[in-house]
Amino acid sequence: MPYPVAAAAGNVQPWPVARTVALETVAVERMRLRVRGVVQGVGFRPFVHRLAVRHGITGFVCNDAEGVVIEAEGDATSLETFAAAIVADAPPLARVAEVVATSCPPRHDTGFVIRASPSTAAALTALIPPDVATCDDCLRELQDPADRRYRYPFTNCTNCGPRFTIVTAVPYDRPSTTMAGFPLCSDCRREYEDPGDRRFHAEPIACPACGPRLSMPLDEAAGLLRAGRILAVKGLGGYHLACDATDEEAVARLRARKLRDEKPLAVMTPDPGSLAVLTPEESALLRGPARPIVLARRRAGAAVAASVAPGSPWLGLLLPYTPLHHLLCHEAGIPLVLTSGNRSDEPIAIDDEDARQRLGEIADAFLSHDRPIHRRCEDSVVRAAFPVRRSRGYAPGGLPLPVAAPVAVVAAGAQLKSTFCVARGAEAFLSPHLGDLDSEAAYRAFRTDLALYLDMLGVEPAAVACDLHPEYLSTGWAREQELPLVEVQHHHAHAAACLAEHGETGEALAVILDGTGMGTDGTLWGGEVLRCDLVSFERVAHLEAVPLPGGEAAIREPWRMAAAYLERAGRPVPVEGRPFERWPVVRESLKVNAPLSSGAGRLFDAVAAVLGVRERVSYEGQAAIELEHLAGDARAEPYECGIRGGVIRGADLVAAVHDDLAAGRPRSAIAAAFHEGVASAFAAAVLTADGPRTVVLSGGSLQNLRLLGSLRGRLEAEGLRVLSHRLVPPNDGGISYGQAAVAAARLSQCA
Ligand SMILES: [Zn+2]
Ligand SMILES: [Zn+2]
Repeated sequence: MPYPVAAAAGNVQPWPVARTVALETVAVERMRLRVRGVVQGVGFRPFVHRLAVRHGITGFVCNDAEGVVIEAEGDATSLETFAAAIVADAPPLARVAEVVATSCPPRHDTGFVIRASPSTAAALTALIPPDVATCDDCLRELQDPADRRYRYPFTNCTNCGPRFTIVTAVPYDRPSTTMAGFPLCSDCRREYEDPGDRRFHAEPIACPACGPRLSMPLDEAAGLLRAGRILAVKGLGGYHLACDATDEEAVARLRARKLRDEKPLAVMTPDPGSLAVLTPEESALLRGPARPIVLARRRAGAAVAASVAPGSPWLGLLLPYTPLHHLLCHEAGIPLVLTSGNRSDEPIAIDDEDARQRLGEIADAFLSHDRPIHRRCEDSVVRAAFPVRRSRGYAPGGLPLPVAAPVAVVAAGAQLKSTFCVARGAEAFLSPHLGDLDSEAAYRAFRTDLALYLDMLGVEPAAVACDLHPEYLSTGWAREQELPLVEVQHHHAHAAACLAEHGETGEALAVILDGTGMGTDGTLWGGEVLRCDLVSFERVAHLEAVPLPGGEAAIREPWRMAAAYLERAGRPVPVEGRPFERWPVVRESLKVNAPLSSGAGRLFDAVAAVLGVRERVSYEGQAAIELEHLAGDARAEPYECGIRGGVIRGADLVAAVHDDLAAGRPRSAIAAAFHEGVASAFAAAVLTADGPRTVVLSGGSLQNLRLLGSLRGRLEAEGLRVLSHRLVPPNDGGISYGQAAVAAARLSQCA
């Protein structure tokens, strides 16, 4: 059994389903078992203790820097059953990667004990588990007036609570967490030392007598929320900003202060079914121990303020996942907007001082506490079958690398939706979401968090991987490292990420539909068919490049792309009405400065602007997202699109959109025909390319479910094997993982 999320949802596995067990047959009376994987902080030692007692085994168990060590003594049959049960019955949050057994001379112990962790200089390879949502047992105690943890906001146990965000070092013991400053009271100590207790050796446990405290009474905080105030709330992996999700004025005020114009906000509620129509898969994801934000279809008349997710048929929902959230939701009695504690797309605030400074002008009050956050970790976001943001609840779970890295590699990632990735042997460790890497604060967070990650993994990088874009801060960082540098083209990295998560080492075709990324020819790519493997790629087809009028400005103002495409299509650029009337001036500037782009995202922008969906955007991808909403489920035949010599004429699609609009065809039907046209053109380009029968799909534009579904359907109908993302985001949040996979493959060729 893998991690329960995977079992429940059947996808979005935080960890690969790998459980290699190399168990020698040992016919001796004492054996030493070396257990590797996610085995610390998941109740593994108490589990082994119970197992030993049940099978009449003597000896000991302890954590060390490589995982867990067990010495077990007994008759051969009991030992065999015991060893098998260690794998078969492991606690739900554990991931046993390997058990190696060796025999050793009997010592005639009198019982079985949990030993303190030895301090050791061995390589640190033990893995810290992700943070886990409050379990049902703890929730029951929280609501029980007779329990000593009644309404205590920091309740946790072996099966739940903070892990990744509070662990400061391995082996994972209480002194190596941010709970080190809270000595256990005698009641907690009794639970901690009682093998029969649910809190036996649970490192972060606490109670009202000995544990962390809130900075403000809960009923006061809830009162402020009900009165329409904005609250900064210290959570698990950082600060959130919270307000009443049903209060239009409060939400509008939060948006204005946070400088977040139109990007949808997440809503925390114990009853997501009242706001959205949930599929069984979405329900399972929402309730799983990772508790991500799940994008689900908004229920008609859902009681949330319009400005929570303006114009969107989707809502980002999440359940309370810490006792504090449970209590706050219960006390406030309203769905709460819960959004990252930051301005715009900066990294989330974790330090109390920093939070006061950065959030002081946004929040009316602070609901804080005195348990420090050691690692930044934002909420994860999942849409349908793939993660949009892989963060809390999943990080730092390892991802597979089909070709093991011969040396440790740090992959620096992209610029937007920044993550980094550390490759160690056959595993890759993808960082939580950091935000957009375009401010000094973000760059600082990148370096700080990377240092913490390397420390946790006990890794000294011997090579770095980065994007080709010279202006990415991540690329700049990589180039400063004075280490062997592996440069990976942006869209090859997307393809490699998808190949790697499926364990593919062979050749495949890749359809990468993305915004913009630096190509090998100095133009911006993003509408690509590649023939590739983990090492290299060849560009076999692509969207025809069009000028990007004004560079970055064209990304913020889709009308510019519309004008450029209409001109390419030989259609008149509308002159009536702003902002198109600026076109003659912008067009002049193209003669001087016209970067070329083949980005699919830009084609979607152009069509959105032609259809009047959106002429300017306030966040990346907004126009394309709204175009997908407009198309909805409308049925339409695909628009025709010429392909010659591997060049896909996107302008043909824009011409068709223009002509149908002029002829008065409904806009939603036009949007649908355009989606089908893009899918059909790329499917045709794949089918013309000779070779591999496996196709990977990746890139930010393939978060569009209509596009993804149509493309997949067309390719599968031709008998191709189609792979899309399940473990890492199709967007730039997955780039660093792809870079790591390419670097590992290339370095192992030289090794
Ligand atoms: Zn619990
Ligand atoms: Zn206590």
